[in-house]
Amino acid sequence: MKRLLSTLCLMSLALLNWAQHETCAHDIVLQRMAEKSPQFMGAMQAQLAHSVKGARAAQNKSNTVYQIPVVFHVVYNTPEQNLPDEVFENQIEILTQDYRRLNSNASETRAIFANVAADAEIEFVLASTDPQGNPTNGIVRVETEETGFDLDLFSTDITLDEVKFTESGGADSWGNEYLNIWVCNIEDTGFGQILGFAYPPNGAANWEGFFDFIDEDVDGVVVHYTAVGSNNPQADDDGVAFNNGGRTLTHEVGHFLGLRHIWGDAFFNGCTTDDGIADTPDAANGANYNCDFSLDECTDDELPNMIENYMDYNQDDCINMFTAEQVAVMRFNLENLRPELIDGQFVNVNETVSIQNELNLFPNPARSFLRISSNINLKSQTYMIRDLSGRAVAQGNFDSSQAEVPLNLHAGYYVLELTEVKMRKAFIVE
Ligand SMILES: [Zn+2]
Repeated sequence: MKRLLSTLCLMSLALLNWAQHETCAHDIVLQRMAEKSPQFMGAMQAQLAHSVKGARAAQNKSNTVYQIPVVFHVVYNTPEQNLPDEVFENQIEILTQDYRRLNSNASETRAIFANVAADAEIEFVLASTDPQGNPTNGIVRVETEETGFDLDLFSTDITLDEVKFTESGGADSWGNEYLNIWVCNIEDTGFGQILGFAYPPNGAANWEGFFDFIDEDVDGVVVHYTAVGSNNPQADDDGVAFNNGGRTLTHEVGHFLGLRHIWGDAFFNGCTTDDGIADTPDAANGANYNCDFSLDECTDDELPNMIENYMDYNQDDCINMFTAEQVAVMRFNLENLRPELIDGQFVNVNETVSIQNELNLFPNPARSFLRISSNINLKSQTYMIRDLSGRAVAQGNFDSSQAEVPLNLHAGYYVLELTEVKMRKAFIVE
């Protein structure tokens, strides 16, 4: 299988003291790299500065709300690992809420950080078309003989990638027009249960080139089956409750879009190693999953650790925000390094001033009806209303240029799409 796997030169056999807690695998992979290359940290810092500059430039570039199509590859060995559809639908909603700052605990962001908390304007939908153009629900199920997939610390390969190939008992990628998420039993290697692992985009400047040769076949996210969704019947199979909120994937997708841990993966340099993001305060280490709001490791800034950041290590209930610069980095990477994910996207008219008048929805929030006006001719336009998980909940045609849509929807966040002209705008039902 070796030729199928990405080789990341994780040669060192020295076992350092990884924390004996559940983790995403970046700690392990990066620690190996740091051991191997004395230049790693210094070079990383230079790259980080570059990355943030690029991201800041990108910040002015667009206000488009992007939708990322997701396919879950459910690779199961036992019936318990073959999670029901509603777990994946729920997970999609959590991702969209977190990336639109519509998460129910957004109000718990401390006041000192509220001004930097940001809406990433990225939404997620289950893929509706497979690579062959056939309709799909975005959930692929593959039974495997493998009782689990592990990240072998003694291998030069990322052995976890075996889950990404039919040939090695997994499921083949759908390619880079999708966010591929493999759901499987990640075996505990004795150093703590790994909950997830994601490759950042090839060419993302702040990863110091270590992930620049990731093959499309393995690109994406792997997640332990217990850590998907907030309604997972197997959530407690891993023996802990703090990861039952569905935010393992919020964190891993942050890596997938190029974000680092907020402490900059500072194995050796503590407070002086940075994540390349100016509006996350310095931190010496991960927050260790204990929701300690008094944590303030680095005294050279006047802020405590931002333990509520999705890119820290903390309990799902305590994390609730990305910062504006993290958002800028993710959007920059999505637009420039993962453009296939958003090709042919709808034009969003939420905040783009120049075309704001082209689609108006009112009242917003709405109750029993929604009135739509536009300076494009709405007559005979087809519309569709989608909920947070991307499901179509209503559709129809307009028969005049000022159209009214009757609503019979639960309170929540929805998107109205004009399917032919590919325009879309969000609204709220109260
Ligand atoms: Zn991580």
